[in-house]
Amino acid sequence: MINLSDLPFCRAYIIIRAVHTALVIGVPLVLITQDTELRRAVYYFERPIYAICYLLLLTFSLVMYFLACLVNPGYIETPCKTKLPMLNNNSDEEDIYEDSQMMNKINNYRRCDFCEVQQPMRSKHCEDCRKCVRKYDHHCHWLETCVGERNHRFFWLFLLSISALILWTISITWNAIVYRLEWLVWLKTNSLLFCNLFILIIAAMAVLGLLGFHSYLISQNLTTWEFVSQERITYLKYLDDSYNPFNEGCPCNVYNFLFDWKIRHWEALYTKKANMQNTASGGIV
Ligand SMILES: [Zn+2]
Ligand SMILES: [Zn+2]
Repeated sequence: MINLSDLPFCRAYIIIRAVHTALVIGVPLVLITQDTELRRAVYYFERPIYAICYLLLLTFSLVMYFLACLVNPGYIETPCKTKLPMLNNNSDEEDIYEDSQMMNKINNYRRCDFCEVQQPMRSKHCEDCRKCVRKYDHHCHWLETCVGERNHRFFWLFLLSISALILWTISITWNAIVYRLEWLVWLKTNSLLFCNLFILIIAAMAVLGLLGFHSYLISQNLTTWEFVSQERITYLKYLDDSYNPFNEGCPCNVYNFLFDWKIRHWEALYTKKANMQNTASGGIV
């Protein structure tokens, strides 16, 4: 007997990405068949700038979605054999010894038995992908992949562009609803627009919430996993609840998130910041 999930076109990631593409293209197509601003702008080309901006935004959101889906999120493919980076250039020998002791203590817990790798700080094993992911954020079922160090920026740009597109499309749909005296006639006349509006409002609630949440995390240089599981994460649970060792200030966090493509060794920043807090609080780790 054939297992449907074995067929290439029945795989979850193909179905979900096809559904996403169909919705992003299908909702505006419905609006083009109705008497809307979008029809006048795109179909009759009465407002070329409006039409070009809308189509560019739609294309950009689709490109960001597929980049977030297809770019390797930061899977750790081979066992990590690199030595720990030099932790504190200005430390004397005793400080270096203490730093190494602390990092060894943390790293002893950070080994993945499934992948048989030493996990770099901020990585986590994903049970859906069955791999460890650098700077793991979460496994997204709408992308059907992990969000991690290398594709998180595309994920956020996707959220930003799709939010703008949804709000713009809601406005077009709302303005196209026509008034009828008889409510049954009113419902029938606007039925397609109401279907669109229903899909758009559900999507807006999900996407705007996620955009706000991820914008906050990015401004603090936190991941979703660190935000929700601080108590269980070996390198965070010994620190004060309100203290985030990866926070380098909002402008620097945002700049690094968007433009820094290098793989970062978070152990170095962590040790430097943890030592500063250690000194201030008289010893915490
Ligand atoms: Zn793993
Ligand atoms: Zn995953």
